[in-house]
Amino acid sequence: MINCSRLLRVGETEREVKKHRNKAAKDVPKHLIRYSKVYSPMVVWNITRECNLSCPVCHLGSAPTADDGELSTEEATDLIDQMATMGVPLITVYGGEPLMRRDFLDLASYAHEKGLRMIFSTNATLITKKTAKKIKNSGITYVGIDLDGLAQQSGNGFDVLEGLKGSMLAIRRLREVGVGCGVRITIGEFNSAMLPEITAAIEKAGIRRFAVCQVLEGRPWREIGEERRKMMDFLIDYAANSPEMEVVTEHVYADGVYILERLKRRDPRRARRISNLLRMQGGCPAGRKLINIDHLGYLHPCIYWKECTIGNVRDTGLSELWTHGNTILEKLRNRREHLKGKCGKCSYSEMCGGCRSRAERYLGDCFRSDPACYFH
Ligand code: SF4
Ligand code: SF4
Repeated sequence: MINCSRLLRVGETEREVKKHRNKAAKDVPKHLIRYSKVYSPMVVWNITRECNLSCPVCHLGSAPTADDGELSTEEATDLIDQMATMGVPLITVYGGEPLMRRDFLDLASYAHEKGLRMIFSTNATLITKKTAKKIKNSGITYVGIDLDGLAQQSGNGFDVLEGLKGSMLAIRRLREVGVGCGVRITIGEFNSAMLPEITAAIEKAGIRRFAVCQVLEGRPWREIGEERRKMMDFLIDYAANSPEMEVVTEHVYADGVYILERLKRRDPRRARRISNLLRMQGGCPAGRKLINIDHLGYLHPCIYWKECTIGNVRDTGLSELWTHGNTILEKLRNRREHLKGKCGKCSYSEMCGGCRSRAERYLGDCFRSDPACYFH
């Protein structure tokens, strides 16, 4: 993800990065991990495929029931032990819906006891007052509310405003117990013109962080790129004028390059400092700074790249897979040697690298150009 707000507040971010860059994983604040020198990967863990909602479109491939082969409590506990030994800096739990797994908050408490940081993404429907307290007691300090679930339940597609309305009770309950939360929204041709209204509603709800995900399929790439440029122009101006808000975008690392190019014309010195931050972040983290474990224990370079499997934590230790996984991990870590086409020639490949899973899905080769790149 590209954190537009922290890039634009470059002076403050630089100071924080300098202070924490060489610290051990557990001592680096979670928003700075992407710039740190921590070698162990951030882990994105799909803890179950079970979800209590049946949405027409689910980016997590959820199902109404858990899979028989999901990791047992003992296996999940063992995995947490392995992550603690490796010094994993952050575990982000996804589902399905994580709260559908009865042992989820016990596993979160165990991870916390082991000194690990865990956050999770939820559809917000299961956060009762009691659950909010349990979340707090488990040591989880941040919950990401994916508005797609409740938005789609309204029967009006990805209606962000409906999703937000439906999530307010959960947001209030989390706030009451002192757990931070932000929202994830989906933007497409159906609502991109509503961004001012949507951001105003998010602000009014007292939320201080939102992540934007654009629908990146179903239309010609040129149209998607045009829409993204307009969306980014809005978000950059919005973030620059909203110091209290944290604005992040997902899945398109060319957004960092776009911010940089926009600033280069107006403030070259500031642009140079932003390019340093982007270089430290290193663009797409799949298999380099991040790894995904699915509900069956299979390891993938990232949550959206399930076609690529590195192994299974039931057969081989996580550390072993991460260190000696297979040639794809080695290639991702030496990405510049393997990139082809526009990404291969791009002078920004070190700080972006394009989306490798998208290249594989749409072009059949993960090292070809990212079809969603809108940067000329
Ligand atoms: S060409 Fe590739 S590396 Fe360059 S900005 Fe676009 S996606 Fe990133
Ligand atoms: S492969 Fe694509 S979706 Fe996965 S981390 Fe990289 S940019 Fe994100």
